[in-house]
Amino acid sequence: MTKESPALYVVATPLGNLGDLTARAADVLRSVPWVAAEDTRHSAPLLRHLGSPARMLPAHEHNEEAAARQVIDRLAAGEAVALISDAGTPAISDPGARLVARVREAGYQVVPLPGPCAAIAALSASGITAPHWLFHGFLPTKAKQREEALRELAALPAVLVFYEAPHRILDTVAALAATLGPARRLVIARELTKLFESIHACPLGEASAWMAADANRQKGEFVLVVDAPEAAVGDGAEAERVLRLLLDEGLPVKQAAKLAHAITGAAKNALYARALALRGES
Ligand code: SAM
Repeated sequence: MTKESPALYVVATPLGNLGDLTARAADVLRSVPWVAAEDTRHSAPLLRHLGSPARMLPAHEHNEEAAARQVIDRLAAGEAVALISDAGTPAISDPGARLVARVREAGYQVVPLPGPCAAIAALSASGITAPHWLFHGFLPTKAKQREEALRELAALPAVLVFYEAPHRILDTVAALAATLGPARRLVIARELTKLFESIHACPLGEASAWMAADANRQKGEFVLVVDAPEAAVGDGAEAERVLRLLLDEGLPVKQAAKLAHAITGAAKNALYARALALRGES
């Protein structure tokens, strides 16, 4: 990076392990005159650790428009600015997206510095092989809205990725099982890159009991990765056979899924999604 580059650098920072800061991120954070940070007090130790002389300006969800104007002023003055959040990649379930949009609208270059992101870390270690995934981040906190959001996602033929905080983890895991069915596989990725990192996989129907069995399993930060519905059906060859048979007989997708569920006990949502996919194929 040179002084002639008045760009906004969007910099990913560690989720827990300082060793995860990339060399390029360290270089940029040391050389920019300004760092826009979600929480300046939280990020000050990181800049001190790097020996960065950068001045900080706050850029959090409640001042993002004003922060964007400040950042654009700095860029207009020919100064580069780095944007960081408390942990991980800015704008991913974190403030930053609106600020980036304003800077781009103002015609300045925005340069991403990729690095830690909890969703990607969890996916990469999940062992889930389905090719498509949907990042949802945090679910609504109210039960009714949460259930509605999950219903919309249930039949998608994709892996679902959620963020959750410790005080809601039990409720959320129970809601996932109730809405997506007990058969889909859940990977619970907790405290990634930290001392008590743990990654546990089990069917959704067993997840609440597993978490309740040890209070430590409910502590820390979580990524919840739910396998795609096809996998839930794919694990049960019998469910797949019955579903195909019913569809071949010309039954509508919904009815075929309902009957296959009644016959085999496989998850209804998963069967429905699979039936849609099979009808699409034929
Ligand atoms: N921007 C961040 C990223 O790139 O992942 C996410 C910020 S969001 C406000 C915080 C949430 O991310 C946490 O509640 C948790 O769901 C997830 N998260 C952050 N750090 C984590 C970690 N070390 N292990 C598991 N999940 C984590």
